[in-house]
Amino acid sequence: MSASSFHPLDPYGIEQALSSEECMVRDAVARLVAEKVLPIIRQCFEEHRFPRELVPELAALGLLGSALEGYGCAGLNAVSYGLICRELERGDSGLRSFVSVQSSLCMYPIHAFGSEEQKRELLPRMARGELIGCFGLTEPHGGSDPANMKTHARRRGADWLLCGSKMWITNGTIADVAVVWAATDEGIRGFLVEKGAPGFTATEIERKFSLRASVTAALYLDDVRVPQERVLPAALGLKAPLSCLTQARFGIAWGVIGAAQACLAQLLEYSGSRVLFGRPLAHNQAIQIRLADMARRLTGAQLIALQLARLKDEERLEPVQVSLAKWNNCRMALDVARDCRDMLGGAGISAEFVPIRHMLNLESVVTYEGTETIHQLTLGRALTGHSAF
Ligand SMILES: Cc1cc2nc3c(=O)[nH]c(=O)nc-3n(C[C@H](O)[C@H](O)[C@H](O)COP(=O)(O)OP(=O)(O)OC[C@H]3O[C@@H](n4cnc5c(N)ncnc54)[C@H](O)[C@@H]3O)c2cc1C
Repeated sequence: MSASSFHPLDPYGIEQALSSEECMVRDAVARLVAEKVLPIIRQCFEEHRFPRELVPELAALGLLGSALEGYGCAGLNAVSYGLICRELERGDSGLRSFVSVQSSLCMYPIHAFGSEEQKRELLPRMARGELIGCFGLTEPHGGSDPANMKTHARRRGADWLLCGSKMWITNGTIADVAVVWAATDEGIRGFLVEKGAPGFTATEIERKFSLRASVTAALYLDDVRVPQERVLPAALGLKAPLSCLTQARFGIAWGVIGAAQACLAQLLEYSGSRVLFGRPLAHNQAIQIRLADMARRLTGAQLIALQLARLKDEERLEPVQVSLAKWNNCRMALDVARDCRDMLGGAGISAEFVPIRHMLNLESVVTYEGTETIHQLTLGRALTGHSAF
């Protein structure tokens, strides 16, 4: 009988189902995270600092806009994009958030809805990390109901004038270009607003206890003039920004697996060496049951993510399937991180161990890109045919 190939962080052998190209992508990102992210990320989190110096490294590996075709982008498949998110989030959700926003929320809408000129001008520079983007959809009065959008744009000659504000915007203060969604007489449209445009300001949201290694900002638009060439011509209606969220939520469903694995890996090591009542913690039934429960939930999340990627590659992905995955996988990761923190005892509240940082980050990840409740209601609507929100 051959030795068991059971791996605690991959009980169903997902890694063995990967192609050699997917393994190469995974290993390259894992190396970057081990060599460049893990040595600094704790300090970045403590200092409330986004490690901007890593942007050229992310770009050099082709991680910005990696799933897009052409315009200097790598054109990787969905599994590879998922693996990138997973490996980055094993380091920190803040870094994965940066890549998600740049790739899925800024480059994707330009790629999907932009003019040929916009694509040629912006996408290669964004892929090289020379231009940073942000995505402004959420407003201060309620992110769960984006149809109730107050930010508006009205035509002024050949230009548009934008007025309003956006809240909780990742990359907001470091962005060179903001994809801002605004209500117009024609419906919701997307505008490319440049840093420094008169009337446009971005203010960092300080004193966050979550995603401290990520920039989050409020955007203010006070009659900002945007020329017609800076409107995304093919984006009309709320379904345009929602389609960007579908892309980003796909990455989140993969990413959070990395955070959960990082927590579980550290707990397995700790519980094997921590001796209490005369034996290692890991020898206790109650601890083993809790570990087994984590492995069960992690496995479910991994299988969901893999199938989600297959559906995406086959162009059969439905937004409700992404909702189920985002909800399930974020919940899994948050519960695993909280439980790992608990089983580390007092050490679990120390930044010397990763679970508390991941746990705090995941409080944002479970909320942004649609809260857990919103995804549950989305699934409820698909199950019953009735919208409850
Ligand atoms: C760190 C961070 C980064 C972010 N980055 C971005 C970004 O880059 N771009 C962007 O546009 N947005 C971003 N967001 C915003 C995020 O998407 C919103 O916070 C989220 O959609 C929730 O909106 P809200 O905070 O206004 O909460 P609300 O919409 O006010 O919700 C409050 C509570 O009410 C619940 N709720 C809402 N509706 C219902 C209902 N019908 N029934 C029952 N309960 C309900 C919600 O689940 C939640 O628990 C970010 C947020 C965070 C925290």
